Amino acid sequence: MMMHSYFTQETGFYGKITPEKLIRKYGSPLYVYNESILRQRCKEVLGLITYPNFKVNYSIKANSNLELLKIVRAEGCHADAMSPGEIYVLLKAGFSPDEIFYIGNNVSKDEMQFAIGRGILVSVDSLAQLRQLGEINPGGPVAVRFNPGIGAGHHEKVVTAGKNTKFGINMDYIDEVKALLRKYNLQLVGINQHIGSLFMEGKPYLEGVKSILSIARQFENLDFVDLGGGFGIPYRKQGGEKRLNLKALGQELTGVLENWVKDYGKEIAFKVEPGRYLAAECGVLLGSVFAVKQNYGTKYVGTDLGFNVLARPVIYDSYHEIEVYRHGSLVKGHSNEAVTIVGNICESGDIIAKDRVLPSIEEGDILGIMDAGAYGFAMSSNYNNRLRPAEVLIGKDGTDRLIRKRDTLEDLMKGFEI
Ligand SMILES: *Cc1c(COP(=O)(O)O)cnc(C)c1O
Repeated sequence: MMMHSYFTQETGFYGKITPEKLIRKYGSPLYVYNESILRQRCKEVLGLITYPNFKVNYSIKANSNLELLKIVRAEGCHADAMSPGEIYVLLKAGFSPDEIFYIGNNVSKDEMQFAIGRGILVSVDSLAQLRQLGEINPGGPVAVRFNPGIGAGHHEKVVTAGKNTKFGINMDYIDEVKALLRKYNLQLVGINQHIGSLFMEGKPYLEGVKSILSIARQFENLDFVDLGGGFGIPYRKQGGEKRLNLKALGQELTGVLENWVKDYGKEIAFKVEPGRYLAAECGVLLGSVFAVKQNYGTKYVGTDLGFNVLARPVIYDSYHEIEVYRHGSLVKGHSNEAVTIVGNICESGDIIAKDRVLPSIEEGDILGIMDAGAYGFAMSSNYNNRLRPAEVLIGKDGTDRLIRKRDTLEDLMKGFEI
């Protein structure tokens, strides 16, 4: 596979500063985000369909940096939360309770109450949780997550519907759902699904949509149907991977939804829940090369990019493209040998990229890990008592600004002051 595209150069990703200067100023490793790209992705999804009653709920587990949340909100997105912590952060970012949708999965009554008490709508995803919600909030509104029996995704761990997953209520239980709604006088305002993550073709999504709509048809007077997230991004841009054709998907979707609404007789709202699509491509993870060595035939490039910083390659075997920077500029071309890029964590599996053909890499180089904005910082940890990196935003005007401080050694003592 030949390299023929340099993402950060084509997008002017770093604005007025270079990767070297960013590392000098804020330390290594470092998450860098580009505001214009984030806004652009929001606009694309907000324009997905022409049906007017349409909401985009950003699934903030992909990246919940407070400044990024403010930008996403300013673009007109609402948000999904999956935990009380996410609700807390969303309220701090300025989202109002009616802009937040809480999608619970095996949560305590206390957690449901945390959302309900703040005026936030809760979605339940089992009959047991529907009954529990009825017990604490009889007469209240509720949403139900169904599992349409169809799933999709890039890895079995992220397929979140279909016959082999824990999510949603099986569609065979619609009568039981109705009975519980009656018993607790609950008002079913919406139904939702999320079939999985990172689809690159519209087809499975459209099939999922048709299934959820056929379920929705069996409930009267809904306010909304939430079609889920999972919109994929091309992680192999250098290799020429094509983008998901949002325009084509949007056109088909609009047709399907408009027909359904006519039949249903009410112009309900439709929602989608993108996480990755909004956040992935606006983020690059920078790190430093400290050692290059040969171990029994494999060339290892040793960096500070351990799986405490970016876990996706280790958890999902994910592929992230890599750019090399030296003396303030991008190094182009490639050497004729493959290298394996590893981090500084004490585990052999601490590999960020295996057998890659890249420009020949030297000690002191800086690496840029592309498309790291989603499930990057969000999944980072203090494993090995390492400090989570700082996060920096390149604004629309090309200037850089710290939007989250690097952890300090003192942060590692938090919780021990008992
Ligand atoms: C994670 C998640 C999403 C977002 O998934 P992406 O693949 O990042 O778009 C949407 N909805 C629910 C319920 C989720 O759990």
